[in-house]
Amino acid sequence: MKSLKYSDTQTLEKISAWAQELGFSDLAVVDLEHPKNLSTPVERYKNWIEQGLHGEMKYLKDTIVVRGKPDKLLKGVKRAIMVSMNYLPKDSTSDWMVREINGLQTPEKASISVYARGKDYHRVMRKRLSKLAKRICLEVGSYGFRACVDSAPLLEVELAQKSGLGWRGKNTLLLKRNEGSFFFLGTLLTDMPLQITQNLTKNLCGTCTSCLDKCPTKAFISPYVLDAKKCISYLTIENKGIIDESLRHLIGNRVYGCDDCQLVCPWNKYAKLSALEEFNVKNGLDDVSLIDLFQWSETQFNYNHAGSPILRIGYERWLRNISIGLGNSANKKKVDGYVNNGAVSEIKKILKTRLNENKPILKPHLIWAIAQCDK
Ligand code: SF4
Ligand code: SF4
Repeated sequence: MKSLKYSDTQTLEKISAWAQELGFSDLAVVDLEHPKNLSTPVERYKNWIEQGLHGEMKYLKDTIVVRGKPDKLLKGVKRAIMVSMNYLPKDSTSDWMVREINGLQTPEKASISVYARGKDYHRVMRKRLSKLAKRICLEVGSYGFRACVDSAPLLEVELAQKSGLGWRGKNTLLLKRNEGSFFFLGTLLTDMPLQITQNLTKNLCGTCTSCLDKCPTKAFISPYVLDAKKCISYLTIENKGIIDESLRHLIGNRVYGCDDCQLVCPWNKYAKLSALEEFNVKNGLDDVSLIDLFQWSETQFNYNHAGSPILRIGYERWLRNISIGLGNSANKKKVDGYVNNGAVSEIKKILKTRLNENKPILKPHLIWAIAQCDK
C-alpha cells in the first residue's frame, strides 16, 4: 500500500466510512488477482448462456470471456470494491409491502418495479462511486479505478457473494440478512492492494421456495437458475419486439419490471429505506392507473421520464406494456367476477384510439388487448 497515513485496516475502515457518507449501505472487498477464483461462476454463467436462457440479450453471450478476466476492464486490477445502496423510497411507510401487493391485485392500476420509480440508479451510483474513487486518491494515494454499475461485463452478484456482502438467493438476487434484497449493487475496480474482506455469508434460504412458487410466469427452471425469456422484467424491459401471447395474461398489470420474487422473500421484511432523495417516487408512479399512463403523449413520456431508467424502453414499448396491462385489466375483472362493463368499455375505447398509429410493435398487442375486452 502506498499510504503512509493509515494501516491497511484503517484504510479499509476509512473507505467504508466515506462510502457510507456517499449513501452506500455496505462495502466489502474481493480479491481479483487470482482469476481462477472466478472459474466456477464463469462456468455456471457459460452453461446458462449455452442453454439459451439469456433470451435476446446478445451482449451477455458476447462478453462471456471478459467476465472471467476483469483485468480486461482495468489493467492491473487487484480488487473489486463491492458496494450496496438501498433503494426503497425514503418516505415509504411501514406497510409498503402490503401496498405493493395490493397494487398488483388492483387490475386498473399500473405496477412499476420499485427500483424504477425515481432516478436512474446507474447514474446515481456511478457518480457516487467516482466520488469515492477521488476521495481515496486524495487521502490514500493515487491508484487506478473504474466504476461499474451494470455497465461492464462483471459477475456482480457472484463477486458480491465472494466479498461477503451477502448470499445469492434462490431467486438469483443477492440477499442480506439485515437488508433483504431491495438494494443496488455497484463495483469499483481498482489496482490498489486493499485489504480483502471475503468472509463468506451463510446461505439462509434454507428450505424456503416462496420465490420459485410465486413467480407468475414460472421463470425459474430450478433454484438459482432463471429462464430470462420468461421473466416479466425481461419481457417488459429487454424484449424489444412482440411479447409471446402465451405469456401476456401472466404479466397482469406489471408495466415495467416485476418485484414478485422479492416481495415474497421473508428477508425483505428487513429491507431498509434509501438514504437518498434520488430514489423518491416521481410522477406518482407508485399509485397510478393504466389508463392515465396510456394517455401520456410521447412528449409527456420523454419529459416525465427524463433521468429515469424507464426512458430506455422508449415510447412504443411503454405503450405495448400498458396495453397488455389494460387487456388483462378488462379480462381480469370478468374472471374475478366483478365485471364493470362501463370500465371495460372505457378501456376498449381508449385502446382503439391508438389503432391507427404507425407503431408496428404496439399494434398486435393492442389488437390482443381489445379482444380481451370482449372475453
Ligand atoms: S422478476 Fe417476476 S417474473 Fe421475473 S423471476 Fe422474479 S417473480 Fe418471476
Ligand atoms: S424467497 Fe426464500 S428461497 Fe427465495 S430468495 Fe428469499 S429466502 Fe431464498
